[in-house]
Amino acid sequence: MEVLLRDLFDGTKRFIDFDYTTDLSEEEVFFEKPFKDPVRFSGRIENRAGVVSLTADIEAALSLHCSRCGKPIRDFKAVPVDMILVPQGDPSADEAECVFEVRDRQELNELLVPELLLDMDMAVLCKEDCRGRCFKCGADLNEKECGCVREEPRSPFSVLKNIQIK
Ligand SMILES: [Zn+2]
Ligand SMILES: [Zn+2]
Repeated sequence: MEVLLRDLFDGTKRFIDFDYTTDLSEEEVFFEKPFKDPVRFSGRIENRAGVVSLTADIEAALSLHCSRCGKPIRDFKAVPVDMILVPQGDPSADEAECVFEVRDRQELNELLVPELLLDMDMAVLCKEDCRGRCFKCGADLNEKECGCVREEPRSPFSVLKNIQIK
């Protein structure tokens, strides 16, 4: 959604409310396309005593896969956003992390979508103690023990087990 921010900066308008959804189904995050459902962006851009702030909630249903066993996971993510907006070229843009330079006519997705993507987790699990899959036969170890002989992953300490104390 495009908003005319000039009106807010010059005080013609006091606030702009927005509430819209965007299709981000082609957006790839950590080798997945998690946004099968439209993502909702709602909030307000407001001029308070000359300072233009944007507060928003990003709400996204997520379709992911467990990074251990590969099972599909449905999850929900809500990202609160709080930004100060300044016109392009405003020197205060460099002062703080939450200050964003914007155009007179600004596409909100350009500001908000990166906030959602930065908040995504690199690895998700279907449950905290997911046992994953057997790397030999592919069995889901949450369901059954397949019986394969699997060497324990090497750790720097595994060598200690072989030291005999005489
Ligand atoms: Zn899992
Ligand atoms: Zn197995």
